[in-house]
Amino acid sequence: MLHFIDVILPIPLQKAFTYHITEAESAFLKPGMRVAVPFGKSKIYTALVYTIHQNPPTAYEAKTIHQILDDSPVITGSQLKHWEWISKYYMCSLGEVMRAAMPNAFLIESETTISKNDKVTVDESDLKDEEFLIYEALQRQSSLKINDIVSILDKKRVLPVINSLVKKGVVNLQEELYEKYTPKLVRYVKLHHNHKSQEKLQELLEVLSRAPKQREVVLTLFTMEAALKKPIKVTDLSEKSGASSSIIKALIDKDILEEYHIQTDRVQFEGEGDADAKHLSDAQQKAYNEVEAAFQEKSVALLHGVTSSGKTEIYVQLIQKQLDLGKQILYLLPEIALTTQLVQRLQDYFGEKVAVFHSRYTSNERVEVWQNMLNNSEKAQVIIGARSSLLLPFRNLGLIIVDEEHEQSFKQFDPAPRYHARDAAIVLAHIFQAKTLLGSATPSLETYYNATQGKYGLVELNTRYNNVVMPDIELVDLADKYKRKRMKGHFSDRLIEEMTETLEEGHQIILFQNRRGYSPIIECTTCGTSPQCPNCDVSLTYHQYRDQLRCHYCGYNSLMLKSCQGCGNATLDTKGFGTEQIEQEVRTLFPEKKVARMDLDTTRGKYGFEKIINNFEQREVDILVGTQMLTKGLDFRHVKLVGIMNADNLLNFPDFRAHERSYQLMAQVSGRAGRTDLRGKVLIQTYNPHHNILQQVSTNAYKEMYAEQMDERYNFKYPPVYRLIKITFKHKDYNRVNLAADWYAKSLKQIFKANVLGPEAPPVARIRNLFHKNILVKIPPNQSLGKTKEVILRIDTSFNAVKDFRSVRVIINVDNY
Ligand code: ADP
Ligand code: ZN
Repeated sequence: MLHFIDVILPIPLQKAFTYHITEAESAFLKPGMRVAVPFGKSKIYTALVYTIHQNPPTAYEAKTIHQILDDSPVITGSQLKHWEWISKYYMCSLGEVMRAAMPNAFLIESETTISKNDKVTVDESDLKDEEFLIYEALQRQSSLKINDIVSILDKKRVLPVINSLVKKGVVNLQEELYEKYTPKLVRYVKLHHNHKSQEKLQELLEVLSRAPKQREVVLTLFTMEAALKKPIKVTDLSEKSGASSSIIKALIDKDILEEYHIQTDRVQFEGEGDADAKHLSDAQQKAYNEVEAAFQEKSVALLHGVTSSGKTEIYVQLIQKQLDLGKQILYLLPEIALTTQLVQRLQDYFGEKVAVFHSRYTSNERVEVWQNMLNNSEKAQVIIGARSSLLLPFRNLGLIIVDEEHEQSFKQFDPAPRYHARDAAIVLAHIFQAKTLLGSATPSLETYYNATQGKYGLVELNTRYNNVVMPDIELVDLADKYKRKRMKGHFSDRLIEEMTETLEEGHQIILFQNRRGYSPIIECTTCGTSPQCPNCDVSLTYHQYRDQLRCHYCGYNSLMLKSCQGCGNATLDTKGFGTEQIEQEVRTLFPEKKVARMDLDTTRGKYGFEKIINNFEQREVDILVGTQMLTKGLDFRHVKLVGIMNADNLLNFPDFRAHERSYQLMAQVSGRAGRTDLRGKVLIQTYNPHHNILQQVSTNAYKEMYAEQMDERYNFKYPPVYRLIKITFKHKDYNRVNLAADWYAKSLKQIFKANVLGPEAPPVARIRNLFHKNILVKIPPNQSLGKTKEVILRIDTSFNAVKDFRSVRVIINVDNY
């Protein structure tokens, strides 16, 4: 009998691929194990066994697998079930989900190497200069990787040289596999077994009496072993004995000490982790009880608690309860809110049980979290992570908490799978018969709608912890201030007054401006020309710090121009303002105060973000200027004043969710003010002080905002009333993208009629030299989502059969955010 496996490959293939295996392999392999398989011309990929069966593929001859990589499955059955849902719901391949889920180090890939062909004698005069360099390197080294060749030749395009060497018979090409995960080994020492007996030891100490430093090391090792009763690390011994590592090495070389290695996790928790949970206030306790009650009837509940109401402490109690039941908990947060601040807070309670998973972790660190979870280790009971931690191998999940559930960054935008972590979390919980708690001070319309419809339980917490009053929010009319000449730069007199007072009292300030850089537009006052990105349809932003013009879409940059490219006059002026300009104006207004800025430009690097937060927390900074990064659930104790520099560009953003988002953003930034006993103050500068959203923010009227926005969503048929699928077309040729989008839209309209909008060019219609066109498919509440997707897939298949369209990239985004 013939045996086969279907595997998932980490690439966008519509179907699983089939390979031939032996009977023995068939008995050994289980779904979820990794195998290395050949695919395409010569590449080798890591694939996951999906099913094992006896049906040969009909369309092609099955190849054999290259190698089995695991003794037992590295993904679980429930994990696979969840991945399948994601792939189906978000219209992407299982391989793309696999790619997003698995740490890189799990995905062994082949790498091309070249080696010398010993069978021929080479006439060196036959070789061109570059060919000779490689040939020469191969005299010293048995094989070279492509990257080695790139550095030898100091250029990127090395393939022609390699091909020519292959043709001349000088070298051979091979595909080599390499394992990317490297375990971390820690060096330990013990006394060499030669000296273990009492008399040998006596002898040794006598010998060493002439080498007092070495003797000291041996004696220290003794004391440490006796006192700690556990293996001694080389670094600890060196520190305790004051001996340098070369002294210890000398002892090892002389066989007096013996070194050995133990594999350890890269991320180690060091601390107590036994802090008592805080005693909940009456309001918190009531909310906690209501959550518990809601979970009796429903699998999802929304905790709608105003900023600083103490939601985190309620989560802590819920987590503890699950731990007592022996269940795992997933605590999901937007990437940027995953700060040490919060992790520390949870580790204080749950110690080593906490595992953290986010993009700033290295691939090796992620493998360790993965493996701990696979083994249901004590170290992986409370998992705190960003979006992708949903895809981990949970064993015994009891509860998922989605904190800041309204955050749009929970939706993956690019690449596929374009999943929404909140929605995918609910599905994951369902697979485990677990509960999901969504938490927010400003719930998304989707979630609040589901709660009011009775689909989710709803728990409201309207008071801040300690009964701190909500901040006092004041709207400042910019038109009036400019007219009456009450502005200094972009600061109104009211803002300056409040800032002065706050600083005099010794409190801190946050200033929010939703644009980075110095100025988003440069314009010539003579001819009106403004410099544009050569690759994208946007104006370049001026960054004063580097004296550069930069594109925020593709990263293009150039030196700031001295004169206008249009008319040649030196009359370039800035329009609009970003965080950089605000920072500079603050320095001029308050020269003796310390200012810091938090935006994409200042937070690069593994700890960039952390450092700014710490400095601000330690009060080494008085005034923090930043973009929406500032809003993400940070808990600062001493901020009294929050200034929103300009509310209008938020409100005017061309998107049906712009008003909802403006409310969320402003309410969240405002929530950073006055989190302890003193009442916070918020100033919002705007040209439209009568705008409904601003009125609602200033009176903390979430429900009013909700009702009004829902009316609009009903009227204009948008989510959460209708569902949306956005289809984006990209191509470097403008005409082709238009033709393609028109063809697609026409096919869709034949079936979905008026519920198809577009094709339409987005506000930025060209990015990285690719033209964009969008089609929006609106799905009425009574129309089947599954059927709709089937139709789209059918149209997509016919579309791809048209030769001219094959090079057009089509991106399907379900529940577009
Ligand atoms: P939220 O997440 O709702 O914005 P937090 O959980 O961060 O609010 O709580 C706000 C502040 O109040 C935090 O500094 C927290 O330590 C404190 N706090 C909340 N609940 C308690 C409690 N029961 N006892 C003591 N301090 C609390
Ligand atoms: Zn650009």
